[in-house]
Amino acid sequence: MLELVTTKLEDVANWGRKFSLFSYPFVTACCGMEFMSVAAPKYDIARFGAEFPRFSPRQSDLLMIVGTITEKQGPALKRIYDQMTEPKWVIAFGVCASTGGFYQNYHAMPGADQVIPVDVYIPGCPPRPEQVLDALILLQDRVARKDGHSQLRLKREKIVLQQARAIEDD
Ligand code: SF4
Repeated sequence: MLELVTTKLEDVANWGRKFSLFSYPFVTACCGMEFMSVAAPKYDIARFGAEFPRFSPRQSDLLMIVGTITEKQGPALKRIYDQMTEPKWVIAFGVCASTGGFYQNYHAMPGADQVIPVDVYIPGCPPRPEQVLDALILLQDRVARKDGHSQLRLKREKIVLQQARAIEDD
């Protein structure tokens, strides 16, 4: 019975989360211009409840990686991700953030998922604003289904803790 109640409560919480994503824009390169246009009135990201960027990772649950990530930036990106509130989600915005793009050289990281888990990848150089909105809708579905990377990790950690307690009680 308790499990049923907590599952329903979690569903309600996730319904709220999917319509109130607070993004932390990690903008490093030219995709930033496209990111700004998504927030402008023509595309109106406010319809999805995701219009407010937060410039503190502690107040954000959606990390938008916008642009090329260099090997030197990797540790900073990981630190920001670690500081964000749980559960959290990540979108790789554009081909550079997703795969390194055409920078096949020593300094560019071949995708942000080398250092943190990415939930949705947006192709394109730069992606069209419509693609970004599509990605947001995909992410919202993922949030509601509870299968974002951090949601699955939290679930795994909870199971491990329950098992450890059960072993202790025996
Ligand atoms: S995907 Fe294209 S537009 Fe975006 S950061 Fe890379 S080179 Fe610039």
